[in-house]
Amino acid sequence: NEAAGDTEAKEALLEKDRKYLWHHISPHNENPMIIVSGEGSWITDIEGNRYLDGMSGLWCVNVGHGRTEIADAAAEQMKTIAYSTLIQSHVPAIELAAKLNEWLEGEYRIFFSNSGSDANEVAFKIGRQYHHQRGKASKHKYISRHRAYHGNSMGALSATGQAQRKLKYEPLGAGFTHVPPPYCYRCPFGQKRGACETQCAQAYEDAIIWEGPDSVAGIIVEPVITGGGMIVPPDDYLSKLRQICDKHDVLLIVDEVICGFGRSGQRFGHLNFGVRPDMVTMAKGLTSAYSPLSATAVSAEMYDSFKESGPDSHFRHVNTFGGNPVSCAVALKNIEILERENLVSRSAFIGKELLNRMKPLQSHPHVGEIRIFGSAIGIEMVEDKQTKEPASAARVTAILAGCKQRGLLIGKNGDTVPGFMNILTLSPPLSTTDDEIVFIADTLLQVFGRSEGDERVE
Ligand code: PMP
Repeated sequence: NEAAGDTEAKEALLEKDRKYLWHHISPHNENPMIIVSGEGSWITDIEGNRYLDGMSGLWCVNVGHGRTEIADAAAEQMKTIAYSTLIQSHVPAIELAAKLNEWLEGEYRIFFSNSGSDANEVAFKIGRQYHHQRGKASKHKYISRHRAYHGNSMGALSATGQAQRKLKYEPLGAGFTHVPPPYCYRCPFGQKRGACETQCAQAYEDAIIWEGPDSVAGIIVEPVITGGGMIVPPDDYLSKLRQICDKHDVLLIVDEVICGFGRSGQRFGHLNFGVRPDMVTMAKGLTSAYSPLSATAVSAEMYDSFKESGPDSHFRHVNTFGGNPVSCAVALKNIEILERENLVSRSAFIGKELLNRMKPLQSHPHVGEIRIFGSAIGIEMVEDKQTKEPASAARVTAILAGCKQRGLLIGKNGDTVPGFMNILTLSPPLSTTDDEIVFIADTLLQVFGRSEGDERVE
């Protein structure tokens, strides 16, 4: 009996898991799913249950699972040369840096690392050194937004604006402050989307002035705040930030760890807003998470100022695994697939189509707002549409469980009020098929009780 065998195998593995493995976020997860394989948008657990991976892992498997041509590219590179530093150079890093310049639609120098957190740390260090070399050593602070996530290492966590993630790890790095997020549904300035003067952008300038422009090195923003609850800013927000940065000689760092590589419906999220950042950080979709790799793209002007600063201008930062040749080869193949299959425009289509099909949810008593950026979607759940009180944990959990039971994995996020995770998130692979779009939307409609004949989770 095959099923019994699988159950036995699962129990044996779980025993070791409970004894030896420290899980991320919830170390005491006693009954984790054990994922064994994936194909396209679907993953399969050890008991043979199939789920549509509605979050692309952790917003990262952009080209979908099971791409053997990526495995082949990795194997080929491992057989040729598996390791070389970037103190010297190697072919996949050179080709990838050139390809990223094409995708960024600008001239950038690319510094490779391993994770999104690493990429942001590099940006912070390069930004400080850049000002230092220009005789402006006092410019050292970074300003980010409450609700934003920028990583788990001490600097990146300092830039993160989610108190619940930080409280037990303080003191963090000095020189990081935060401004209110551009959260139109719960506007911190009491305004309405589409009828405001983008006070959330002005808040950034106010913070720079209060802190003292001579002390501020840069600001860091995601094009939309993804992990903090899919917070989509007013259309002119990012371009206003660009102007404010120029006015005060402050660097604009755009964190594209989630929004990049097609998730936004364009190649990078800042391109949706027509803005040119000074630095762009990226990870996740760079390799579709087939192998760890991240990058910090630094404007050619900034890079030149390092070159011109003479012998003392080394960037004293080396990273053993950063820009590993195998990961670079994987990234090149991944980007080739994104281009060949037109997955960037597919992403925009997936988002629009899902939103369209999920329209009936908008009138649901516990759906406050549905927000979208490319193919990343947030459904903000509330107890009451009028008061906007965030939905209870039980209500959110019931939706997640209902989806899982029907074979759809989605995410949750938030901290609208600290501790409340009331925003459902969706970020399916960019290769999601038409039938799968229907499956995702129909499943959500069923679970919310918005289609005929289904039980209601209200
Ligand atoms: N920035 C953003 C916007 C992220 O979403 C993440 C990860 N979720 C990071 C940075 C950190 O990336 P990593 O987990 O690879 O360090």
